[in-house]
Amino acid sequence: MSQPINRSWRLASRPVGMVAESDFECVEEPVAELQDGEFLVRNLYLAFEPAMRGWLNDVKSYVPPVGIGEVMRSSTVGQVVESKNRRYQEGSLVSGTLGWQEWAISDGRPGPMGGVSTLPPGTPPTLALGALGGTGLTAYFGMLEVGKPKPGDAVVVSGAAGATGSVAGQIARIAGAGKVVGIAGGPEKCAWLVDELGFDAAIDYKEGPVRARVHAECPRGVDVFFDNVGGSILDEMLLEMAVGGRIALCGGISAYNEKELPPGPTNYMQLVIRRCTMQGFLLLDYLSQARQATERMAGWIADGRLRNEEDVQEGFENAPKTLLRLFQGKNRGKQLLKIAEPPLPLPS
Ligand code: NAP
Repeated sequence: MSQPINRSWRLASRPVGMVAESDFECVEEPVAELQDGEFLVRNLYLAFEPAMRGWLNDVKSYVPPVGIGEVMRSSTVGQVVESKNRRYQEGSLVSGTLGWQEWAISDGRPGPMGGVSTLPPGTPPTLALGALGGTGLTAYFGMLEVGKPKPGDAVVVSGAAGATGSVAGQIARIAGAGKVVGIAGGPEKCAWLVDELGFDAAIDYKEGPVRARVHAECPRGVDVFFDNVGGSILDEMLLEMAVGGRIALCGGISAYNEKELPPGPTNYMQLVIRRCTMQGFLLLDYLSQARQATERMAGWIADGRLRNEEDVQEGFENAPKTLLRLFQGKNRGKQLLKIAEPPLPLPS
């Protein structure tokens, strides 16, 4: 095939405070010739997650920061269109971290966030970025390995209408929780959690402090709090935990765009008084168990117990705008951007 022109979004400047579209620039250049061991991927979907904001800061984290001038890092699903690597067949769908670009050359070797894997034939590409990808696995391990809900437990999830939170709440229900309460922004998201996803109740944090409303829903205390948000919501929740409760710290999106980090939770002594644990976790530590977890979740999706919600925007030019949707609370479920149709027939 003739060499296509690749468009990529690259980091132009490090954001201070809220990330802006102008922090990225779009670059066009021809795709390089494939070397032995390499394969060429046409990216079809880009996935967005709040952690991407952290990768823009020049600080040491669990992955290196994205460098100025580098392609913006993101999870992707694409199709192999040319291959000089026997492990990656032309036409197959692959998921990896190939970034905000239309075309990507890889040799399949793992980067800081893992390698490139071929999707089992018939897997819907968007599902591989949502409930059956990193999002679902984060919810799965965070809820089951860190939160450890027992039958009858009261479970609260913040960021509940987002990608991870919506799956985490459903997994708590599957694990036998007695009550599952979501915290989310706005009446529409709250109604959706209850009416469509089977949460027992939902609390709109934009209406004001959550503590009294959590207490009304969970008068005997909260056994598991799965926290995606941090900040004042975490601080209020510390006052509503049951004795022996578990807080699974998944993320803290409320502070990701702050210029100065806000003070930590003032109510942390409740961990002592109520003999609670508060444990952070990273999906990367559980990847060796991912296959088994994915198979379980695929079963739950097939039998209707787990619903995958996605918000699919379109157009490669909209990548920076789509990232901002996360911080504006515009997404419900997994935020994705569709950038192309598969150029080759899909494997049957
Ligand atoms: P997401 O929840 O789909 O999207 C972000 C949502 O966060 C928005 O829709 C918005 O919903 C809410 N939000 C935005 N700004 C907020 C603020 N200032 N205060 C409160 N809520 C705010 O994103 P996700 O990919 O599922 O990620 C959720 C969390 O999991 C993030 O903290 C992320 O960093 C973390 N995470 C952790 C791991 C891990 O391995 N530990 C892996 C993946 C993700 P509302 O409309 O409800 O405000």
